[in-house]
Amino acid sequence: MAGKRDYYEVLGVSKNATLDEIKKAYRKLALKYHPDKNKNDKAAEEKFKEATEAYEVLRDPEKRKLYDQFGHEGLRGASEMYGQGAYQDFSDIFQGTSFEDLFENFFSGFGGGFGTHRTRSQSSKRRGMDLRYNLEVSLEDVLHGKEVKIQVPRQEHCEKCGGTGSSDGKVEVCPTCHGTGQVRRSSGFFSIASTCPQCRGEGQITANPCTACGGSGLVHRKRTISIRIPPGIESGTRLKVAGEGEAGPNGGPSGDLYVVVHVKKHKKFSREGADLRTTAEVPVTTAIIGGEIMVPTLEGSQVKLKIPAGTQPDTVFRVRQKGLPVMGHPNRRGDLLVEVKVQIPKGTSSKVKALVKELEEELNASSGIFGRFR
Ligand SMILES: [Zn+2]
Ligand SMILES: [Zn+2]
Repeated sequence: MAGKRDYYEVLGVSKNATLDEIKKAYRKLALKYHPDKNKNDKAAEEKFKEATEAYEVLRDPEKRKLYDQFGHEGLRGASEMYGQGAYQDFSDIFQGTSFEDLFENFFSGFGGGFGTHRTRSQSSKRRGMDLRYNLEVSLEDVLHGKEVKIQVPRQEHCEKCGGTGSSDGKVEVCPTCHGTGQVRRSSGFFSIASTCPQCRGEGQITANPCTACGGSGLVHRKRTISIRIPPGIESGTRLKVAGEGEAGPNGGPSGDLYVVVHVKKHKKFSREGADLRTTAEVPVTTAIIGGEIMVPTLEGSQVKLKIPAGTQPDTVFRVRQKGLPVMGHPNRRGDLLVEVKVQIPKGTSSKVKALVKELEEELNASSGIFGRFR
């Protein structure tokens, strides 16, 4: 560590330089000493590495604070904390890269990777996926609410290994990345470091995988889950069942289950918010002279509906409180809207014809209602 230059001096910025100034200063130096531009120039390569190292520390508020307080010594522990290999192979990454690509990648994707280096347990224990389940319910279910049991195929933690994937808890160094947790991938001239797919950045793998789950820690199961459908539910409502999604890899937390409720069409009743609508047939005579009809409700009972004399076809009557409950307010209910269909008898007898004829004459004489249609 002897002879290490001050990082601020390396970048040529003041002690209270902003992140922007630091970035600009580094960019300038990196372009100047980039190994591509200075082939076989050891001095330039050293300068490039030095600048990169300085930048790597000063761009990170945590490391910068340590450095400001304790100098280079202060970072020795930190570099272990943050994982090694962060900048020692840095120059490889820049080799053969056009400068445009370099900075685009460096400042967007690549640069961010260092500052957010996660600890091992955090990186491996990921949350499971959310699941979606489409559930069809009847209008009667909307009326009463319902407890529904659904079968959800999903990934669960393996019971045998407790979701760890290991039969005995022993680990060994990952053969793909040799323990670094990172692999280099070349695309064109550009070589980029990414998380090792085999160990997912952990640097180690399970020595003796669990036989029940093959080391994944996860098994496929069909699980029966009870869902409470609240009365008055609207079609398209998404019910969240927390923690009933897929299990997370390596013993991570489970995702959530979302049950999307679709209300099936009913033969007799249609829905208008909390109101229900239905049709009822009314004999023409009842429509003329008035009377009562029985109207079926969604509950299965019947309600008496008064038909006033002179009721017109398609008149809508409102039966209070015979609609659907309002979701979240079980004591509030909508109404039942009854649309009247006036029934004209078919195939009438000669007696009926004679009577209607008489009726027609009487009506013509008194009001002329029927006469208009002659
Ligand atoms: Zn690996
Ligand atoms: Zn297992």
